Amino acid sequence: MHAMVLNAIRTPLEWTELPDRQPGPGQIRVKVTACGVCRTDLHVVDGELPNPVVPIIPGHEIVGRIDAIGAGVAGLEMGERVGIPWLGHTCGVCPYCRMQRENLCDDPVFTGFTRDGGFATATIADARFAFPLGETGSDVSLAPLLCAGLIGWRSLSMAGEGKKIGLYGFGAAAHIIAQVAQWQGRSVYAFTKPGDTVTQDFARALGAVWAGGSDVAPPEPLDVAIIFATVGDLVPVALKSVRKGGRVVCAGIHMSDIPSFPYATLWEERELLSVANLTRQDGLDFLRQVPAMGIVTRTTTYPLQRANEALADLRAGRFDGAAVLFP
Ligand SMILES: [Zn+2]
Ligand SMILES: [Zn+2]
Repeated sequence: MHAMVLNAIRTPLEWTELPDRQPGPGQIRVKVTACGVCRTDLHVVDGELPNPVVPIIPGHEIVGRIDAIGAGVAGLEMGERVGIPWLGHTCGVCPYCRMQRENLCDDPVFTGFTRDGGFATATIADARFAFPLGETGSDVSLAPLLCAGLIGWRSLSMAGEGKKIGLYGFGAAAHIIAQVAQWQGRSVYAFTKPGDTVTQDFARALGAVWAGGSDVAPPEPLDVAIIFATVGDLVPVALKSVRKGGRVVCAGIHMSDIPSFPYATLWEERELLSVANLTRQDGLDFLRQVPAMGIVTRTTTYPLQRANEALADLRAGRFDGAAVLFP
């Protein structure tokens, strides 16, 4: 197999030939056909997440087909198309696993961070954490759903029922969740970097009722807001954009420091919370409804060997939607 390997934090990934791997008990081997590039991959490369492991193969929005099955795997078949997400394994016995909050597991494995991921021609996964994807939709179009879609879905669920929803940071996750929110009958207000009229136009083309810079107040108070951008300064900004009793959800795994702000910005029962990872139930709930939602993902594709270029373009905001690697 071949992979783009991160050998040291803050260095380019290196194209590497590796021996083929065999799935252990409970595992599958997947021939990767597409792997999305997520902002979290940048955090992995930059060493911004706690306890980084190197060398590591990043990538946790994996679409591929099973080409080897380990002992004791039930319910999956050779050749079946599956998706492999960020949550690679949980312990099953800690208090969080026991209370159906396995996203907070005390001893988890994360694909592309603490276990090799999908910037490769093949990968090994715990079969219980792979999602059957069926045959509807192309591999490239589905890949961004495996994290941008899933984390976005969990964030949207955590945001509650509000009809007027603000999305701060209109990248891969927001462009999917904007479509899901409208399918649910909500109105989307899209906030981009100030002056990024290209992305504002993109948001309006996807049905946003309003799009503007994050330095501009929405035309009316919002019910809820989700912050996908990694910018802590947006927390008080988003809190000011929601009505009394409104809720702000921070969807990212990493964010710059949040500046201090007057208590009045939070008062009147506004709520602020964060979302971490996903549960398998989130994945099943979301992916089951995907065919009905009619999500159209905007993707920019790169050959696997050009993963560094994809990461650089993501960092610089050089495309709208999501980047996807293909072997
Ligand atoms: Zn656990
Ligand atoms: Zn991700």
